[in-house]
Amino acid sequence: MGASGGVASELSSDFELAPWHRVCDKFRNEFGQDAYSTWLGQLGYEGVDGSTVELTAPTKFVRDWIQRHYAPRLRDFFLAENPRIKSLSIRLAARRLDGVADRMSAPAKPVSAMASTAAQAAAESSALDPKYTFDSFVVGKSNELAYAAAKRIAETDEVAFNPLFLHGGVGLGKTHLMHAIAWEVRRRNPAKRVVYVSAEKFMFEFIAALRFKDTHAFKKKFRTVDLLMVDDVQFIANKDSTQEEFFHTFNALVDNRCQVVITADRSPTDLEGIEERIISRLGWGLVADIHPTDYELRLGILQSKAEQAESVIVPAEVLEFLARRITSNVRELEGALNRVMAYATLVGRPITMDMTRDVLQDLIRANDRKLTIDEIQRAVADYFNLRLSEMLSERRARNIARPRQVAMYLSKQLTSRSLPEIGRRFGGRDHTTVMHAVRKIEDLRRDDSQLDDDLTRLSRLLEG
Ligand code: ADP
Ligand code: MG
Repeated sequence: MGASGGVASELSSDFELAPWHRVCDKFRNEFGQDAYSTWLGQLGYEGVDGSTVELTAPTKFVRDWIQRHYAPRLRDFFLAENPRIKSLSIRLAARRLDGVADRMSAPAKPVSAMASTAAQAAAESSALDPKYTFDSFVVGKSNELAYAAAKRIAETDEVAFNPLFLHGGVGLGKTHLMHAIAWEVRRRNPAKRVVYVSAEKFMFEFIAALRFKDTHAFKKKFRTVDLLMVDDVQFIANKDSTQEEFFHTFNALVDNRCQVVITADRSPTDLEGIEERIISRLGWGLVADIHPTDYELRLGILQSKAEQAESVIVPAEVLEFLARRITSNVRELEGALNRVMAYATLVGRPITMDMTRDVLQDLIRANDRKLTIDEIQRAVADYFNLRLSEMLSERRARNIARPRQVAMYLSKQLTSRSLPEIGRRFGGRDHTTVMHAVRKIEDLRRDDSQLDDDLTRLSRLLEG
């Protein structure tokens, strides 16, 4: 079932579906593509009746899960579309004639696909995004370890470290790297059995297997693979029986010297509600974290995406503007670029700065709110062990003047404030002083690796 659900596309016009599509986008943004495909993507949108949004679910399980885990956020999303909305109603979709409606959702499929390896490969590969490859992954300081480790696993047959545990915030490339591993392994050795699964789906399939008393097939599926990748394991925290099964599977695989790759939005030790022994074993292999992006990486990613788009030309200044202003995560960054490109194509005009600002107003504001000159000043003073008042003072001693220039430079880079505004916030200095500081730091940064490091770390601190 597609984004809009089969039913809706028959009953409503595209116009009426726009709010639903936006709700789906927000859901995807907040919970990720995997959660979307497993849950919201299964729903049909029927429309709004008075103050109630009417949705349909293919199974009771999906309906209950969404009620329990996502209903409040969904209501918020709908409320933003239509202030009259008070509640959601999720009905079960009409049963299909063959009477298997209750079993047609995700779990039954892969389990039965166990019949042959070929069928399984086909079933699993459908979950892999063809765009997520090593070639399309842009490497920077913040993700180089994760990238190198992923590459290593994809390219060698020995088990170098087991498991590989990748962690980092939302939208920083964890899923991308996992898919890249799968593609590369499949390319090098098509006979290898690779299973990629979100932890949510793992759990979902496990519960379904229990329900259909088919745990044998479930175990066989997950314990007879060469490479198992489980995405977003924070989802199985506090789910005792699934955790238990996951741990057994994991142990069995590691003991067989099969490679396991795991991701989470936090480090093993920060995973709450997961048993100590699991955490400690997860930490046995290699733990690699992906840090928030820095400006260079964001620009690199945008350049690579813009190059792939053949029909539209994106001016360098627009790419730089986006890299500077959309700092939250790569998913949002990509979304911003796509929006500008789509708009330009739609209206048939070349992309300009004005158009970009216009189209992305809301996004830019959301990202802006995050960082103020005040925060930058505090962070820089802290970093260099100065008092804030000292840093903003008139003193010209180098150990004070340099951090002050750094703070001005970062204020220019990381906020949308103008030079005169920045000057005012730095004890009423002139805009030429700010400009001088920005140039000075830009120059120094090129040859002074210590300073470059300081700046990278500070940006990371501030944007993270
Ligand atoms: P996560 O799983 O960490 O939440 P994803 O892997 O889904 O993040 O990444 C979100 C989006 O950003 C994807 O479209 C992905 O291709 C893109 N992305 C993230 N990091 C990079 C990178 N270093 N180079 C290219 N694209 C990236
Ligand atoms: Mg992910």
